[in-house]
Formats: sequence, C-alpha cells, structure tokens
Amino acid sequence: MSPARAGDDWAARKRGAGCALCDPERAGAGRMRVAALRTSTLYLERDQTYPGYCVLVFDRRHAAGLEALSEAERSDFLADLARAALAVADCFAPDHMNYAMLGNMVPHLHAHLIPRYRDDPRWGRPIWGDAPPPPAVATSDAELAGRVEGLRRALEKT
Ligand SMILES: [Zn+2]
Repeated sequence: MSPARAGDDWAARKRGAGCALCDPERAGAGRMRVAALRTSTLYLERDQTYPGYCVLVFDRRHAAGLEALSEAERSDFLADLARAALAVADCFAPDHMNYAMLGNMVPHLHAHLIPRYRDDPRWGRPIWGDAPPPPAVATSDAELAGRVEGLRRALEKT
C-alpha cells in the first residue's frame, strides 16, 4: 500500500514483463532441474548451504501469486508443494522445513523449500537478512475489528 516510487516498474513486472521465471532456461540458472510436477517444476539450488534447498516454480504461465490462479490450479500447485516437501524431507531428513513464497524481487509464483537443521548457520532465524524489523504500527481496536470483518466477508466469497 505504499505509493509507487519514481521509476518503479512493479506493475509491469507483476504482469510478467521481463520475467525470468517464465523462461525455463533462466528459471533453471543456478539450479538443477529435478522434475516436472503437475503445475510446476522443482529445482535443486546449486547453493546447498541448507542441504536439499529447492525452489518450486509454477510453470503453466505467468502468475504473480496464489491469488492469480484458478481454484484447480491453486489446489494442484499446493499439492505439488506438499509432494516436493515430502521428497525433500525423505531425502535429507531436516529438523524443520521453511516455506517461503515472497515474490518481492521476482513476482512470479514460486516457493522456496528450505530444509533447516539444528546446526545450520542461521538456525532459529530466517535464512535471509538480519535487518531489525520496523517499529510496530499501533492500530486501534476499531480499525482491527473493521479489518477482521472485511476478512470474514472476503472469506465468505471464497
Ligand atoms: Zn513469470
């Protein structure tokens, strides 16, 4: 909800302009292709700081996020994600699994599956960034109640 910055091409990138993940060759750069799943391709990252680290890329077309998929596509993509996670867990036996679907830099639906180990270099923390969080935003109870009501109405439409 922040105002667009000058020169920000976010809207175009969100629509797919220059999207690296729409191009299988670019999507696979720095990664090893593991398999094509129902709606996605699973890649193993070459950087194995976190053994088994994979990325699952939705590959039917450009879509910025889950909200851009049909119900059937969403269900299939999430099933692919679960299947990939089971495979990673089976092969690497991590202590925990992180799922990251950010899309802040590349707004094309993809999920990072990051196996975590009690002896990994950032155990207990996200693998990216150590910047302190911004200060908490105080929100009135009335505003919070309005947001809860809005979410409830939206859930009824789904
Ligand atoms: Zn794309």
